[in-house]
Amino acid sequence: MLTYLDHHATTPCDAAVLAAMAPWWREHFANPSSRQHRAGLEAAAAVEQARGRLAAALAMPPAAVVFTSGATEANNLALKGLAEAALERGDPRRGLVTLATEHRAVLDPLAWLARHGFPLTVLPVQADGLLDPGRLDDALGPDTLLVSVMAANNEIGVLQPLETIGALCRARGIHFHCDAAQAVGHVPLEPTGLGIDLLSLSGHKLYGPKGIGALVVGEGVRVAPQMHGGGQEDGRRAGTLAVPLIVGLGAAVQTALADREGRAERLAGLRERLWDGLESLGGICRNGNAGRCLPHNLNVTVSGVDGADLHRLLRRRLAVSSGSACSQGSPSHVLAALGRSRAEAAASIRFGLGRDTTGEDIATAVAAVAEAVAEMRRAA
Ligand SMILES: *Cc1c(COP(=O)(O)O)cnc(C)c1O
Repeated sequence: MLTYLDHHATTPCDAAVLAAMAPWWREHFANPSSRQHRAGLEAAAAVEQARGRLAAALAMPPAAVVFTSGATEANNLALKGLAEAALERGDPRRGLVTLATEHRAVLDPLAWLARHGFPLTVLPVQADGLLDPGRLDDALGPDTLLVSVMAANNEIGVLQPLETIGALCRARGIHFHCDAAQAVGHVPLEPTGLGIDLLSLSGHKLYGPKGIGALVVGEGVRVAPQMHGGGQEDGRRAGTLAVPLIVGLGAAVQTALADREGRAERLAGLRERLWDGLESLGGICRNGNAGRCLPHNLNVTVSGVDGADLHRLLRRRLAVSSGSACSQGSPSHVLAALGRSRAEAAASIRFGLGRDTTGEDIATAVAAVAEAVAEMRRAA
């Protein structure tokens, strides 16, 4: 049996989430935009209940929530939608600012905007993966329209100083977008208090279904729709609402909130046990700031071994990865931003613990790495 420790790539759908979704595929299949019959109204009510749950979890009004197909789409809607809205209202500002360690689903839409007249500044991070707020302050100017910084990194788990970033943006009237796909349901997060105007999240990163997510839009913030059609979601995202997935997202948020603190504490304990076990093998170092990090993340580099060999050996017993699931093949741009070489990045292991992870899984992981490292060091 493979031990799954890749919960940053995706999480299993919770049993309670599956149960909540079940009636909405076939029994109650109506289109929530069909307002002329009861079945449609019932589907609409289910969507609104899920919207309310998600909004409440983030201390936002329900109208702030725009359902999307996931965090990738939410990021695209936030970034391109904000830029387009600025053009439409004649806002002369064009500058975009982000971090080198952002997810591709932020970097790529921003690069697209840069090719279309919105100059992009990509800030480096410190050796521990955190932004130096002074650097951000220096990068902001009268032309800056938007800052996009993630809440929690999907490879090294570091938690960026959102409150400081939000305050810097707010003081200058600059929009602040935050990709919180790895944070919602895992760490406390209240966009308004943090000065976040636009927040992206994803169902399958918090034990919900794949193919659903949301963009949470702060009061008075306008994003131009990137999907045109039937006018759903107040004209902000057209397309028939995915009722079962939306219900699943609502249930996942509720379940995640209910056990978040206990889960975080338990997984942080297991994570430290994993690190203690790995550290004792020697020649293994930890990536990212260990003090400001998701409780269920551990990212390490094994020195002096070939990354491809390491992962080939680990594959026999563990489901882990060397970096993001979304940048298959290429070396991690996140580890590169921390100053790791290509070879070091390849010989890195990202562990993502999850709700079902046990002490036994941790023992298996330590043993698997120990055996792999011993085998490679013997051969060397
Ligand atoms: C997974 C992830 C995404 C993409 O989310 P999807 O819902 O799969 O599109 C974006 N950003 C971060 C930080 C992620 O971890």
